[in-house]
Amino acid sequence: MSHVLASFNRAQRLSQLQQGADNTVWDMIVVGGGITGAGILLTASQAGLKVLLIEQQDFAWGASSKSSKMVHGGLRYLGSGQYNMTKDAVTEREKLLNELPGLVNPLQFLMGHYKYQFPGPLVFNSLLTIYDWIGGKRNHSYINHGIADFHAPGIEQNKLQGATQFADAVTDDARLVMRVLQEAQECGGTAINYLSAEHIILTADAVTGVNVADQVSGQKFNLQAKVVINATGPWTDKLRQQLHAKKAIRPLRGSHLIVPSWRLPLAYSVSYFHPEDKRPIFAFPWENSTVIGTTDLDHDSDLDQQPCISQNEVDYLLTGINKQFPQADITESDVISTYAGIRPVVSNDASNKKQLKKTKPSDEKREHSIWNEQGLISVAGGKLTTFRLIALDVLKVAQHYLPDMNLIDLQAAKLFQTIPDTPVDSILHPQQIQRLKSQYGKHYSHLINNAEHNELRPIGSTNTLLAELKWSLQHEMVVHLDDLLLRRTRIGLLLAAGGEQLFGQLQPLCQTALHWNEGQWQQELSRYQGIIQRYYSLPKHRQLLSTQDVSSANAVAN
Ligand SMILES: Cc1cc2nc3c(=O)[nH]c(=O)nc-3n(C[C@H](O)[C@H](O)[C@H](O)COP(=O)(O)OP(=O)(O)OC[C@H]3O[C@@H](n4cnc5c(N)ncnc54)[C@H](O)[C@@H]3O)c2cc1C
Repeated sequence: MSHVLASFNRAQRLSQLQQGADNTVWDMIVVGGGITGAGILLTASQAGLKVLLIEQQDFAWGASSKSSKMVHGGLRYLGSGQYNMTKDAVTEREKLLNELPGLVNPLQFLMGHYKYQFPGPLVFNSLLTIYDWIGGKRNHSYINHGIADFHAPGIEQNKLQGATQFADAVTDDARLVMRVLQEAQECGGTAINYLSAEHIILTADAVTGVNVADQVSGQKFNLQAKVVINATGPWTDKLRQQLHAKKAIRPLRGSHLIVPSWRLPLAYSVSYFHPEDKRPIFAFPWENSTVIGTTDLDHDSDLDQQPCISQNEVDYLLTGINKQFPQADITESDVISTYAGIRPVVSNDASNKKQLKKTKPSDEKREHSIWNEQGLISVAGGKLTTFRLIALDVLKVAQHYLPDMNLIDLQAAKLFQTIPDTPVDSILHPQQIQRLKSQYGKHYSHLINNAEHNELRPIGSTNTLLAELKWSLQHEMVVHLDDLLLRRTRIGLLLAAGGEQLFGQLQPLCQTALHWNEGQWQQELSRYQGIIQRYYSLPKHRQLLSTQDVSSANAVAN
């Protein structure tokens, strides 16, 4: 079990880092524990480097737990001529589907074709022919007007000519980050959460390390490295600007609504154009619920405050969904939760506000960029889907500082080791076992076999088992209750009021695993409820918080 991410290990790991700080020079320190940082930790560890990843909050706390969760080639990027990005993403989608079945799952898409709407079936099907050709298999077909309603019950019929069905994939983004981190640790990498990079350390004009702050104790110390990677997504410019670099990131917010699946039961991810601005948006089935997304807006607020959906975005998404599914009549009262993420989009005009206004957010390219400033290698942009390729590109740049690194076999190699089947309790459906295997890697059988029977039943309408909460508490560096309910599991998004029905059951589990006394449990609970209300609820619920509640929710959430 030595390589399991272990909660009791965080303190141990931190003290090892502190004690060894003066005498240890890491090959590489990766700043940022989203999918980009995790992917770099994994590939660098596979290349034989001694690597440390530090995350200022919780793993996947940024965009990587708040994406639209598609592992896709981005058909829309193909439409806007970003052929290379689409090609890379489709290839990576296939790789992830093969290596992580159960965590990355096929998802069928459907798009209705309406009279006078561009692109019509002909253009759309031509795009899909290229898309499928890149993926190496034909995976789209045309559905006649008469049976489109059978595939997407309640779909707008007025002017409907037919629909096209095509294939992509979907994941649990935060769990994907955890799986990548776990695999990285199996390969010798080290990761720690709640440790932020405060300052870049320069020696004779070259980066030689970072000054870090433990967000739990407040202690600060220096860490040394041959190369430092800045994988901080939307925060990229913050570290770069310490080296006087020009701003490059245009933070773009995307928000989502989650409704129970019975209110809008979908077998497909349904794509449609918003009636107001003709942007492509979608609704898709996820974890036994329906997610409605997404927006694309400049995010001007402080990045250190978690983003949240605005009333305009709620109205926009509701208008869109009710145009596409008029009979469903989805209203705010159907919404279980909301979430918003910040896309770390690279823009040539990021430092020129006037110019920026001329480019629509949705017209900004989504490809990744890499900068090397005095040995601080920064990377931003790209997609969840392409994390492996982004990591390989970063390593190529880092090779300048690490000439002994072995990159040769990484390009074609499998990213995840094959996990042997182990006999497990038969109470679970094979699909559940596959999900757990993909999500927890080789530890899946311990998770199942160490659980009581009643802990192997799904919680409420979710697929999550109580046994997973227990496992995460013991082995996945949970520091706060929100780590457990919003990222290790997605209970907080999927159940009403952040899963309050579970609190009674959770309290003894948390207190035992994390040694919280009654006071700490109460503190964690109110921190969590503040976060849910402020960042994962509808704006009108936020308004119910008194000013005092808001400032205390802010204080605990940051
Ligand atoms: C609304 C939305 C929808 C999306 N949909 C999709 C999709 O469907 N499919 C897809 O492939 N991609 C999608 N993306 C893109 C994808 O989610 C992002 O490109 C990806 O998650 C970015 O990962 P990252 O690790 O670079 O950034 P993040 O996940 O934001 O991680 C950066 C991390 O760095 C940490 N950090 C910052 N500063 C410091 C510091 N000083 N010290 C230590 N740590 C620090 C932050 O806390 C954060 O956790 C979407 C993005 C958004 C926002």
